[in-house]
Amino acid sequence: MKALIIIDMLDDFVGGALANPHAQAMVAPLKRLLDHARREDWVVVFSNDAHEPDDPELAVWGEHAMAGTPGAQVIAELTPRPGEREIVSAKRAYGAFDGTGLDEQLRALGVDEVVLTGQHTHICVRHSAYGALIRHYRISVPRDAVCTFEGVDEDDALDYLRDTYAARITTIDELIGAEAAARGAAT
Ligand code: ZN
Repeated sequence: MKALIIIDMLDDFVGGALANPHAQAMVAPLKRLLDHARREDWVVVFSNDAHEPDDPELAVWGEHAMAGTPGAQVIAELTPRPGEREIVSAKRAYGAFDGTGLDEQLRALGVDEVVLTGQHTHICVRHSAYGALIRHYRISVPRDAVCTFEGVDEDDALDYLRDTYAARITTIDELIGAEAAARGAAT
């Protein structure tokens, strides 16, 4: 069972305090993958920064995605539909598994593979990949559904995920096509 994990596609990270043109360009393709995940009944997770004033990483980035503020909302294009198979998971550090209870939630739903998307490839996606690896999840990363910010090499960031966490680097088309092919073979 796959879980699509969408990391920090929040107002502050797309057009707000930490606005990123790469993330803005990625919204439509990511929406396509989200639609696919919902159709195929994958588990969907929105892993969202929801910071409190004493969170350590604010010393690095300044205030962003503060809990309860508009900047901490998932962008309108990807609005969550919370339910049994769609989880909104608040985090206060980089990794989706860091003190969030997400591992237990995914296990309860039978998830054994995570598809990591969102931003940033070299920070929160990376820390989430580490969290997934040590908890024995298989990891896929569609290269067109993640991004770094300006000045950071995307290929280097993806290579790190592949070489360090055994992440399968793929594409949205490949994921969607692979699902369709598997269905075809089963009938
Ligand atoms: Zn943060």
